[in-house]
Amino acid sequence: MKILVINTGSSSIKYVLFEMTNHQVLAKGLVDRIGEANSSLTNSTFIPEVNKTRLETSIPNHSEGLELVVKTLTDPQTGIIKDTNEIMAVGHRVVHGGERFSEPVEIDKDVKAKIKELIALAPLHNPSNLEGINVAEKFFPNAKQIAVFDTAFHQSMPAKSFRYPIPNRLYTEEKIRVYGMHGTSHSYVSMQLISELDKPAKETSVISIHLGNGCSMAAVKGGQCIDTSMGLSPLAGLMMGTRSGDLDPAVPFYLGTTVGMSLPDIDKMLNKESGLKGIAGSNDMRDVLEKRAAGDENATLAIDMYVQRIKKYIGAYAAELGALDAIAFTAGIGENSAQLRELVCEGMRVLGLELDLEKNKQPGPGNQCISTENSVAQIWVIPTNEELEIAIQSERVIST
Ligand code: ADP
Repeated sequence: MKILVINTGSSSIKYVLFEMTNHQVLAKGLVDRIGEANSSLTNSTFIPEVNKTRLETSIPNHSEGLELVVKTLTDPQTGIIKDTNEIMAVGHRVVHGGERFSEPVEIDKDVKAKIKELIALAPLHNPSNLEGINVAEKFFPNAKQIAVFDTAFHQSMPAKSFRYPIPNRLYTEEKIRVYGMHGTSHSYVSMQLISELDKPAKETSVISIHLGNGCSMAAVKGGQCIDTSMGLSPLAGLMMGTRSGDLDPAVPFYLGTTVGMSLPDIDKMLNKESGLKGIAGSNDMRDVLEKRAAGDENATLAIDMYVQRIKKYIGAYAAELGALDAIAFTAGIGENSAQLRELVCEGMRVLGLELDLEKNKQPGPGNQCISTENSVAQIWVIPTNEELEIAIQSERVIST
């Protein structure tokens, strides 16, 4: 069975076509800069051998972008499928599912209406996700359209984790609460991690640490998320590439009343100009680590702050879980930076975590344990695969 996974952004469509019998990637690509002067489609097919093509052309909207994807996938010479009927389902990444969606669902009129209602909670993402669904319905009329929500995995959190200590009516009437993000990644990584442990899944306590441009963590007990670091929005929790993460909630008031910044300026500063960028001048971890190695004081401080916040959440989550079997690092930084993992794990024997410095340097491909034999809790690198998780969840929906 073939499933196409689509992640639609405001000016892009990322896609991966899977053969589900062996989870093989048949094709993947990116339609980029939709609506801009220099739009392009990059596509790679993997059978019988890797074949990468790039097309630079005017792509004024998402509909023409997806039409181009269909043409490329079904091209008689270079395509990977004969026609779109071979695709049984299109799995859509939808950022916000609110409280309504704790599972992936087949999309119908009601589901679309609900995703639209949730735009207030995800104004940057849900509108383009919805556009992606509308366009996919047009080009894949015989495929089932499935929505997989980035918030869904966190819906298992108890109220003590998801409620903010503010007046009740702000939850009951305005739905202000912790939703969390990166749920598809945390779901994939924690399930992979649990499957590596020598223990029944329901007895496990693990922490998933997603460190990409956006960064978040999840505490997972018996396979269920019990707490996560992002909140109502992706701004909360860890320090990130350009987002501040946690701060005193009074900081924005001070900026508004005393410094004289407007609400949109504060929003922009906290989301786009803070984090690593705000302290070290770059949101790219590789640059920041290089500057730190060259003795740059701001980069050194940025890394110290970044690492300290991860340690703080590991400690907090270990306490909440009441036990700790393993932690897993994932995403761009978590998977690729041995140095960052070493800094995070330094001095963590208090929580039973002891890194094997050699294994950490060369974790190799796939899931790898990088803790010592004596480490009470294990440390893993687990490459995330959000697209595959969306495909697997979509397959589950159409098979039930
Ligand atoms: P996104 O959240 O956009 O999917 P990624 O998961 O790709 O982001 O992570 C991007 C981050 O990973 C960037 O900060 C980048 O510098 C960092 N990164 C990628 N490779 C390395 C590496 N070898 N060492 C340190 N950081 C890395």
